[in-house]
Amino acid sequence: MTQPLLRLREVGRDYPAGDEPISALRDVNLDIEAGEFVAIVGASGSGKSTLMNVLGCLDRPTHGRYEVNGRNTAELQPDELAELRREHFGFIFQRYHLLGDLTAVGNVEMPAVYAGQTSTTRHQRSRELLARLGMADRLGHRPTQLSGGQQQRVSIARALMNGGHVILADEPTGALDSRSGEEVMKILNELHNEGHTIILVTHDMAVAEHAQRIIELRDGAVLRDGANPQRPATRAVAAATPSRKAAAWASLRDRFLEAFRMAMVAMAAHRMRTFLTMLGIIIGIASVVLVVALGAGAQKQILSQIGSLGTNTIEIYPGVIGDQTNTMRPLRAADADALAAQSFVDSATPSVNTSVTLRYGNISVNAQANGVGEQYFRVRGTKLAAGSFFGPQSIYRLDQVLVIDDNTRAKLFPDARSNPLGQVVLLNNMPSRIIGVTQKQTNGFGNGNNLSVYAPYTTVMGRLTGGTSVSNITVRVSDETPMKAAEEAISRLMTLRHDGRKDFTLNNTANIRETIESTTRTLTLLLGSIAGIALLVGGIGVMNIMLVSVSERTREIGVRMAVGARQGDILQQFLIEAVLVCLVGGALGLLFAMGIAGLVSLAIPTFSMVVSISSMMAAFACSTSIGIVFGFLPARNAARLDPVDALARE
Ligand code: ADP
Ligand code: MG
Repeated sequence: MTQPLLRLREVGRDYPAGDEPISALRDVNLDIEAGEFVAIVGASGSGKSTLMNVLGCLDRPTHGRYEVNGRNTAELQPDELAELRREHFGFIFQRYHLLGDLTAVGNVEMPAVYAGQTSTTRHQRSRELLARLGMADRLGHRPTQLSGGQQQRVSIARALMNGGHVILADEPTGALDSRSGEEVMKILNELHNEGHTIILVTHDMAVAEHAQRIIELRDGAVLRDGANPQRPATRAVAAATPSRKAAAWASLRDRFLEAFRMAMVAMAAHRMRTFLTMLGIIIGIASVVLVVALGAGAQKQILSQIGSLGTNTIEIYPGVIGDQTNTMRPLRAADADALAAQSFVDSATPSVNTSVTLRYGNISVNAQANGVGEQYFRVRGTKLAAGSFFGPQSIYRLDQVLVIDDNTRAKLFPDARSNPLGQVVLLNNMPSRIIGVTQKQTNGFGNGNNLSVYAPYTTVMGRLTGGTSVSNITVRVSDETPMKAAEEAISRLMTLRHDGRKDFTLNNTANIRETIESTTRTLTLLLGSIAGIALLVGGIGVMNIMLVSVSERTREIGVRMAVGARQGDILQQFLIEAVLVCLVGGALGLLFAMGIAGLVSLAIPTFSMVVSISSMMAAFACSTSIGIVFGFLPARNAARLDPVDALARE
């Protein structure tokens, strides 16, 4: 015995409604053979559409068994049902269900995209089908530019696109004037003669008379099922499906392109909304990129200033940070002398600093007085513009001599022609003779507008501060000694001099550099994460709009599912849309940030923000993942929609 094409056994479909569910179908038993022309008739609400949806695998029976070519549909996964719809069924709806954003050709081609036909076959076949249905001059028209009859022909062409062995037509003439209705029936008759199985739902007996078999439903049950005496049973051989499948990768690409195209169409349809959604991403990406650029720029500037301090000096400070138990011993000038005597030490100097009032003539300014040893200038690599440094005798004799920096010279001797050398200035109340002027520092710590003068540390301690200890010691390590070894040797020597206790701290520029790097990194991270919140809010905005987009386009999703789109195809389409919004937003945000960075560089020539390649890549990676993360939920909602529910939504 041969298998019937479609077989229903005891099929029921209940809709939950309050306490008592509505039974739209009750124990329906039907066999439909290939090549039949069946009309399903009955009063409104008798279950015709429900039966049609079950037959077309848009809906599943609540109980009973439905087989297509012997396959039990209850055992099929959603994507396998989509394949059945794609490969076997062609739907014609009362309301046409064409996609308004696509042309006639675009609508007709859609099922073939999901079926993986090559694009040439697709284009050719869709044109042939439309031409055959008398639509040759309407190929590029959109549904709104077509009459009802014309739209129904487009939907018939779409049903035939993948072959359409079984045409399921739910009230195809219901919305048409009688002439257009007759034409549609003529087309269905022709298709039947060519071997298509036609299942037609109608409440109009005149339309049903075209069929060879009439099934009448009442209250969800089959009331009558018999041959139509008006039409003898002729059954043509089923037509072969004229489809040429593209390679798997080409099919994937085509489906991706279709999803991409639809995402673009959807974005273009709501330009203002899309832009506002993007704005969140634009602001988020721009602020993250700017904060990182600011941090990188600040770090670069500070590090270049440290660079001018030289790389082979070590500073010694009294005390250990965070150690309260250790009664710290002050540093003495003798410590500096002991260090200077070491073979690995190039030069060493103690320092005591105090702020003083400098007076010369009627000019009075505040300055930093640095009490230093005679090796200080060698340690720091300071160069003189005029005069000389002080020597060891000046230290010994507490000489009241002074080396001033260029800033101080400019303040005290505004007239460039006057010679400061030999002039006596007052440090607070101590007269001092200027013996040297240092060169203008181009870069370095505290260059700015600070005034610095240098005097023998003995003079500063003995005559200005009255202290007995120095505030720190700076050692310049000889070039051939590695810093690490020098640091260990200094630490050993100082510990020895301090009765075996390490109550001092060593700092070299590498340490300072590290500290500054980690500080700016922490700051950048902190500010960056605050900016990241803006990005998060932007992402939530994207999710919100995508949810709106999905609910607005539920019917479109239903149509796509009816013609055989897989869940993955729908997911992909909405994910692409979310990612596109974020990517474009990210690119605009990046441009915006680069514009601001450029303006800042123009406005402050000494400071430049650093928008690195890596932060650009991070911005793109970030916006893509935001699109995926925040687009996923709406896209999954769309993909999980039930085709029949989605179609019913207006
Ligand atoms: P017909 O197409 O013959 O007019 P339907 O198959 O659309 O009838 O509906 C059959 C019965 O099922 C009706 O009583 C209708 O109210 C009910 N029904 C249809 N769809 C739903 C639904 N989604 N939820 C609840 N009841 C439904
Ligand atoms: Mg109906």
